[in-house]
Amino acid sequence: MSFKDLGLSEPLLKAISKKGYTTPSPIQEKAIPPVLEGRDVLASAQTGTGKTAGFTLPLLHYLSENPKTKFRPIRALILTPTRELAAQVHQSVMDYSEFLDIRSAVIFGGVNQKPQAATIRRGVDILVATPGRLLDLHNQNLLSLKRVEVFILDEADRMLDMGFLRDIEKVMSVMPAKRQNLMFSATFSKDIKKLANGILNNPVQVEATPENTTVEAISQKVYRVAKGKKPDLLIKLISEGNWKQALVFCRTKHGANKLTKKLISSGISAAAIHGNKSQGARTKALEGFKSGKVRVMVATDIAARGLDIPLLPHVVNFELPNISEDYVHRIGRTGRAGADGKAISLVSADETTYLRDIEKLIGEKIEVEIVEGFEPDPNASTEPIKQGQGRQGGGNRNRNSGPRNSGGNSGGNRSSSNRSSSNSSNSRRRNDRRN
Ligand code: AMP
Repeated sequence: MSFKDLGLSEPLLKAISKKGYTTPSPIQEKAIPPVLEGRDVLASAQTGTGKTAGFTLPLLHYLSENPKTKFRPIRALILTPTRELAAQVHQSVMDYSEFLDIRSAVIFGGVNQKPQAATIRRGVDILVATPGRLLDLHNQNLLSLKRVEVFILDEADRMLDMGFLRDIEKVMSVMPAKRQNLMFSATFSKDIKKLANGILNNPVQVEATPENTTVEAISQKVYRVAKGKKPDLLIKLISEGNWKQALVFCRTKHGANKLTKKLISSGISAAAIHGNKSQGARTKALEGFKSGKVRVMVATDIAARGLDIPLLPHVVNFELPNISEDYVHRIGRTGRAGADGKAISLVSADETTYLRDIEKLIGEKIEVEIVEGFEPDPNASTEPIKQGQGRQGGGNRNRNSGPRNSGGNSGGNRSSSNRSSSNSSNSRRRNDRRN
């Protein structure tokens, strides 16, 4: 299967070839045809699978083949949970639309709204946005969503985790009921299925990798270690293993800051990325990491979600996540595009339950190693760390994975009923902090 076989237009094929892609990824092969047909799509795909092109390419094909008036209303809205993901998705939109007469813009909180509003005023076909800033500008009548034909909800599971449900509902209430809807999610909890039912009309269901399984190319290892010795063990692994770069996950912002300082004081260049950092600081940290100037990026789950870091050799769980699915998200950052990756977890006694839950979820036992001088503390309690401590946002964390629906296959052309219309100033305030 080639991109040409998928029926994409010449300007898109040119942009794809410029990006260096030769064949569509599995999610692209599966998602592009139904999206081109105008069907609603529910896709199970995590970052790294090529999902962004999976929805952007057919979207661009549709918009460019069906041009509208010179006055450019927003015809497509892509909603993402984080600023970083919004910026990345917008970059993809710009890359793929290089040879098309399509205008796009990205808006998110934490930066001056004026330039964003000015860009929108000049007319954009595609708007990429985080919910908080989108509703802010909408409430100020600085944008209208009345002409949206295609609505894309990216990383829907993370949206719910971050407490964006009310905002999504509000956004839906200001768009036309007749539109095409695409929803992407890495995991499928009951809440996600409920959200999908409210948004999608008779969707085609596609998936890139089996639900909640880890990528085969990634080798996973657990180091059992005393809690207090984790920083030194990490430094030893990085230094003696000659690691070029690593993404290290911490459970809390405070923990991420502390570890970053410790790494720097040991001569390892490091930067922290989490929700308390300003947009400028987050962008700078990410750029430093991408350019190779920063060797270790220390992140919390929410901040790291959606980051596109190609061919990352090492992902470290400095602390295991208390939500097992987050483990799958985290280690999905390595071993992309066929490159071998190593996912390493430093596990202390109080994380034993989390480890067991993770192994249950991924259906395999992870190899365990103990490094001399960094042995686990035999007297430490195996009582789990208190749930929710230091979580960013603290939104709805109910993520019981249920069985997947089988794909529906009938009817529906660019239409959906609009079933929700609630508003919440509380959730708006929350978003302002997170976006
Ligand atoms: P995504 O899952 O959308 O974040 O994409 C992950 C990475 O894969 C990005 O760096 C894309 O540029 C890259 N990518 C997307 N589609 C393809 C493809 N068909 N072939 C090779 N790389 C791709």
